[in-house]
Amino acid sequence: MSQQPPRTDTVRPLRANTVEHWDIEVDVVVAGYGIAGVCAAIEAARAGANVLILERTGGWGGAAALAGGFIYLGGGTGLQRALGFDDTPENMATFLTAALGPGVDQAKIEDYCAGSVEHYEWLVACGVPFKAEFWGEPGWEPPHDEGLMYSGGENAAPFLDLAKPAPRGHVPQFAEKKIGRRSGGYMLMKPLAETAAGLGIAVEYDTRIRRLIVDDDDRVVGVLASTYGKPVAVRAARGVVLATGSFAYDTEMIARYTPKLSGRPGAAIEEHDGIGIRLAQALGAELAHMDASEVAVFGDPQLMARGILVNGRGQRFVTEDTYPGRIGQAVLLHQDNEAFLIIDEKSLEQALDTVTATPFFRFPPTWVAETVAELEAEMGLPAQALQTTIAAYNQHAEHGADPLLGKKPEWVRPLTGALACYDLRGFTAGFTLGGVRTDLDSRVLHVSGEPIAGLFAAGRCTSGLCAGGYVSGASLGDGSFYGRRAGKSAATG
Ligand SMILES: Cc1cc2nc3c(=O)[nH]c(=O)nc-3n(C[C@H](O)[C@H](O)[C@H](O)COP(=O)(O)OP(=O)(O)OC[C@H]3O[C@@H](n4cnc5c(N)ncnc54)[C@H](O)[C@@H]3O)c2cc1C
Repeated sequence: MSQQPPRTDTVRPLRANTVEHWDIEVDVVVAGYGIAGVCAAIEAARAGANVLILERTGGWGGAAALAGGFIYLGGGTGLQRALGFDDTPENMATFLTAALGPGVDQAKIEDYCAGSVEHYEWLVACGVPFKAEFWGEPGWEPPHDEGLMYSGGENAAPFLDLAKPAPRGHVPQFAEKKIGRRSGGYMLMKPLAETAAGLGIAVEYDTRIRRLIVDDDDRVVGVLASTYGKPVAVRAARGVVLATGSFAYDTEMIARYTPKLSGRPGAAIEEHDGIGIRLAQALGAELAHMDASEVAVFGDPQLMARGILVNGRGQRFVTEDTYPGRIGQAVLLHQDNEAFLIIDEKSLEQALDTVTATPFFRFPPTWVAETVAELEAEMGLPAQALQTTIAAYNQHAEHGADPLLGKKPEWVRPLTGALACYDLRGFTAGFTLGGVRTDLDSRVLHVSGEPIAGLFAAGRCTSGLCAGGYVSGASLGDGSFYGRRAGKSAATG
């Protein structure tokens, strides 16, 4: 480097003609060794490029290795077929367009669905194991090592009648999972990291990307990173791939773009500080869906399906047997982060007898009451607010129906006798889904609509499939799928 080392405390691009010495020279630099990064590195290496991964922490994995491991795949994957589920790319696209909208990138949805079967086979060929067993119960994840589950509300209202329901949450097999710490996502990352090692891909750990380096034509030709406080200039002859994750841990960006997540726990890792987005923005990149977020609610799906959820006014607002992430979004984004779960004694006992992957969501109820009127008073609701809701629910439940929200008959039963109520106000966490806008080749798009030469991105620093809604598996899904594209595109210029 020059006598005066370049600043690492700004996201402004650095001019290549000011770099006196390149510390490392490769064809493709991948920033971030999570799911998008590993897939990009593998495909870039297979396309003949000399690849270097820069990773800020001391090991591979990122949020992906902590994740439950759902990868949203369909259209007739080998696993779906082995378990007797019919699906087509068109059916999958119809569902995703409705569930991930409004405002999805339609070309991306169709491209992803069309390539989904091949992507599943690619993962399997890289050594990702999937057990041919289906888990059909409500839950956040399969409790054991089952490989396939509904993970987006495909088999619940309002999607049930829109597209033929098919389970698409593919989970890598992992018998010793510890939810939230080392789960199915670890068994996605491990074989992929081994594949990358087998290809001879170089990695620099404890090395953090700080700035992009551009030539006189504004083409990205390298990155300025830092390791243990020392700047490192890395030249990338063919391209740079940003795969540094979301902005879930940047409080200012959260306040600016997704304020409802402010103060909520982030379902991510602290390294998700939005750096990839800001570096690309500083070069004029377009952003998309910066307000979109995944939201988890800390409720047990087996209890929610059997009970009813009401808001702070005692009214039902969401189909309780749907994907719990859809419930989380409804609570945080549309009900002021307020929800109460009400269930009767018989259904509660039934629910507690079921197997769950998330036993920590089974805690004692906040209130127990003999009558609805008593519970209503305990909850501090105006007289009749809850009584009216439960009377209407029970009236139709007598006939196994839920004409208000369309909960499936198998979960509908009148609430009778003693009632338990869980106060779920403020019980949400989430991560961000917006980021730089990319095309189908994972090229980062300038606000003019043109690609920014030499710059590619994938994973949660990009706006992927999700525009507003979410399904479990969309992040590892689009991160791996468009990570591959980013690697291929970067390697081929
Ligand atoms: C508990 C939990 C469960 C989840 N379950 C699921 C699930 O089942 N299915 C699903 O689809 N999603 C799930 N997610 C979300 C999913 O894990 C992430 O959205 C996904 O990993 C994002 O992929 P990525 O490649 O963008 O980021 P990551 O996989 O996190 O990789 C980003 C990498 O970049 C590194 N990095 C950051 N900044 C820099 C820098 N300046 N320089 C160099 N490296 C840097 C990070 O350290 C990290 O290793 C879950 C998340 C959590 C926390």
